[in-house]
Amino acid sequence: MELACMHRRSLFLLPLVAAGGASAQTPLTVVASFSILGDLVRQLGGDRIATRVIAGPDTDAHDFQPRPSDAEAMRGAGLLVHNGLGFDAWFDRLARTAGPNIRRVTATDGIEPLGMEGHAHNHGSTDRRRGHAVPPRRVADPHAWQDVRLVQRYVANIAAGLAAAAPGDAARFQANLAAYAARLEALDAWVRAEIATVPEARRVAITAHDAFGYFSAAYGVRFLAPQGLSSAAEPTPGDVGRLIRQIRAERITAVFVESAANPAILSQIAQEAGVRIRGRLFADALSPPDGPAATYEAMMRHNVGLLVPAMRGDA
Ligand code: ZN
Repeated sequence: MELACMHRRSLFLLPLVAAGGASAQTPLTVVASFSILGDLVRQLGGDRIATRVIAGPDTDAHDFQPRPSDAEAMRGAGLLVHNGLGFDAWFDRLARTAGPNIRRVTATDGIEPLGMEGHAHNHGSTDRRRGHAVPPRRVADPHAWQDVRLVQRYVANIAAGLAAAAPGDAARFQANLAAYAARLEALDAWVRAEIATVPEARRVAITAHDAFGYFSAAYGVRFLAPQGLSSAAEPTPGDVGRLIRQIRAERITAVFVESAANPAILSQIAQEAGVRIRGRLFADALSPPDGPAATYEAMMRHNVGLLVPAMRGDA
């Protein structure tokens, strides 16, 4: 223990002297708004950074309520990373009060957003109440991480932010970025190959909330969500009935619940349509470390691994 410490200290000595400042001694602390970004930051920063995630696994980041300790964590950070496109606006507000001078990265910078119905996107009761008060409007769809190719932009933005915040480690971040970008490329190719095994007419799935617009655009799978069918945030009996008839008419077999969303309405729809729920998709948050979607790559492989046999109608 003692020896390891001494060893590490001597390793740190040279760059410390070269950088000429005491601040180079402590690793860069990066605070990410939600679990998926936290994983991307870790992939790029490796052991050169300390990562903290505010909205953790299985947590809905749309309407997250930060605690005072979250603001405290930001104060000591060297870099803040958020999604943008209205997904984690709470993080912005927190950052403005906690550390207006801390370097910030918007991971979706440079991405041309898709549109979605603003009212249709709801997860919890707060949102639902608001849904009734706000008329339908087109807003930017924030779920860009559901397209692996767009995540290439995420990681390029994050790596640039890391390099700016800790220039001494820029070469390491660049190497990590190159390695991870190659993995993303392989992941994207795998998703396409998997989807290709499903006959085109069967590439349709039902899920809780319309979080899969980018997945849909990138990989050619249609997603239907009960909340996405109506101008009311809460699906009406008519919406639910139409969805059930559609499931029967198109013989849709891919019906899912989502992590961090209420499964009640989906369970009811599946039961009445005579199909079974084929599992739980991870849309907006990772699973805890011991779960099936502990990293972004694991999440995409888990989702596609459930979607493909379900859409094909495999037993
Ligand atoms: Zn969402």
